[in-house]
Amino acid sequence: MRIAALLLAAAAAAGCKSTMDRAPSTWYPSAEVVCWNARCPNCRGTAAVGCGPCRAKGEVPCDQCRDGKEKCGTCGGDGKKDGKKCKSCDGAGIRACSTCGGDRMMTCKRCSGHGQLTCLRPIRISEPAPGPEDTWPMPPPK
Ligand SMILES: [Zn+2]
Ligand SMILES: [Zn+2]
Ligand SMILES: [Zn+2]
Ligand SMILES: [Zn+2]
Repeated sequence: MRIAALLLAAAAAAGCKSTMDRAPSTWYPSAEVVCWNARCPNCRGTAAVGCGPCRAKGEVPCDQCRDGKEKCGTCGGDGKKDGKKCKSCDGAGIRACSTCGGDRMMTCKRCSGHGQLTCLRPIRISEPAPGPEDTWPMPPPK
């Protein structure tokens, strides 16, 4: 039960902000929308483009390790903790890299491992830029 509650809390934190947090920063004179333009040279109307950093593979070489291993954080790499063999690394002082799990490839952050990004096209919002009197929530009276 406790885990479910924690997950819910995390989802809420990651998702929506309250209107109050969001309002002052939501205004953009232009915005990006999903591109369905058949003449777009990047996506040809499919709205998907291959991810650049991972070359559409969804994985990039791990930037936290060279050989799939990292120094054990529990013992600081010397294999001993409080005079005893470190349990975390079984005395080896190194362990599988926590970022890539030891296989030296990690999920591409840019595309979250999908290998594809959504093609976006900018649109311009034609409304005039809001002035101070349009700001919401209203600033406190001086
Ligand atoms: Zn496009
Ligand atoms: Zn250790
Ligand atoms: Zn790694
Ligand atoms: Zn990618």
